[in-house]
Amino acid sequence: MSALLAIRGAEARFGPVKALRGLDLEVRAGEVVGLLGHNGAGKTTTLKLALGLLRPQAGSVRLLGVDPAGRQGRRARARVGFLPENVSFYDMLTGREVLRYLARLKRRPAAEADRLLERVGLAHAADRRVRTWSKGMRQRLGLAQALLGRPELLLLDEPTVGLDPVATAELYATIGRLRGEGVGVVLCSHVLAGIERHIDRCVIVGHGRVLAAGTLEELRARARLPIRIRARGRWHEPPLQGLGEGEGVVARRLNGHQLELDVAPERKLAVLRALAAAPGVEDLDVRPPGLETLYAHFDAMLHRGPDGEAP
Ligand code: ATP
Repeated sequence: MSALLAIRGAEARFGPVKALRGLDLEVRAGEVVGLLGHNGAGKTTTLKLALGLLRPQAGSVRLLGVDPAGRQGRRARARVGFLPENVSFYDMLTGREVLRYLARLKRRPAAEADRLLERVGLAHAADRRVRTWSKGMRQRLGLAQALLGRPELLLLDEPTVGLDPVATAELYATIGRLRGEGVGVVLCSHVLAGIERHIDRCVIVGHGRVLAAGTLEELRARARLPIRIRARGRWHEPPLQGLGEGEGVVARRLNGHQLELDVAPERKLAVLRALAAAPGVEDLDVRPPGLETLYAHFDAMLHRGPDGEAP
C-alpha cells in the first residue's frame, strides 16, 4: 500500500533560519505517527509542506500520490483534515452555525456537521455561542472541522494543548477510533510524556532533522539506555547481593526501605530474578526509558556524535 504522505529529504528555509534540514516522514493508512519535538523543531513547518502551503527548497513531498503544492494539490487536500495549533472561530456564532458554515465551504451537507458535533461530544452545547465555550470544547470543534469530508489523513498540530486529562483521553479515544477506520494520523506534539500509548510510531525531530524514528521499542533498543528498577521492602541490609553492581548496574538507596537501580537492558532479567529471590523484597517496579529520556538521548547524540565527538 502506498503512503498517504511521503516527505523525503525536505529542506525549508525562512531567510537565514533553516527550519528543516533533510526531513523524512511517511504515513500510511491506519497508523498514528507522532511527530515529536521541542518548540522550534520544525513540526509545523512539516505540516505546512504536507499541505502544500510551503514548497521545500530541496527534497520531495507527496500527499496522496501528488505534489500538494502543484496543480493536483487542491484535490488531494480535500481528502485531508487539518487541525492547526491555534484554532479560532467566529465566536458570536453557535457551534452548529460554525460547523455548518465550514461544511458548506467544503461542499458537505449540514447533516454531516450535526453528526460530527455528536461524534466529538458537543451536541449538548451545539446551539450555544462558541464564545461561551471552554478551551477544550473549542479544541473539539477544531477536531470536528478537521473531520468534515471523512478525511483519509489527519494532520493534528498540538491537539492536546490546553486540554484537561479527561478531554485529552477523549481526544485520544477519538483518534484511536479513526485509526480503526483506516485513517492515517500525524500527531504533532512537544509534550512527550504520556503520548507513547497513543501512537504506533514516532518521528522525533530536532533542529529540522529526524533525530530518531520507529516504534518505542525500536527506539529503546537503539538507545540501549538503562532501565530503572525500584525495589521496596523491609530489610536490614539492602538486597544488593548477586546483582552485579558496577557491571551495568548502578544502585542508589532512596531510604531504608526503597532501592533504585539503573540497569543495562541485557542485565534486566538477571537483576529482576535476583531481586525477586532476595529476602525482604516486597515489590518491584520496572520503568523503561520514556520518550522524554529518549528525546534527550538522541538530541545529545546529534550534538556529540555517536562516539561522543562533536559532529
Ligand atoms: P512549536 O512546537 O513551537 O510550534 P515547531 O516544531 O512547530 O515548534 P516550526 O514552527 O516548524 O517549529 O519552526 C521551525 C523553525 O522555523 C523555528 O526556528 C521558527 O522560528 C522558524 N520559522 C517558522 N516559520 C517561520 C517564518 N514564517 N518566518 C521565519 N522563521 C520561521
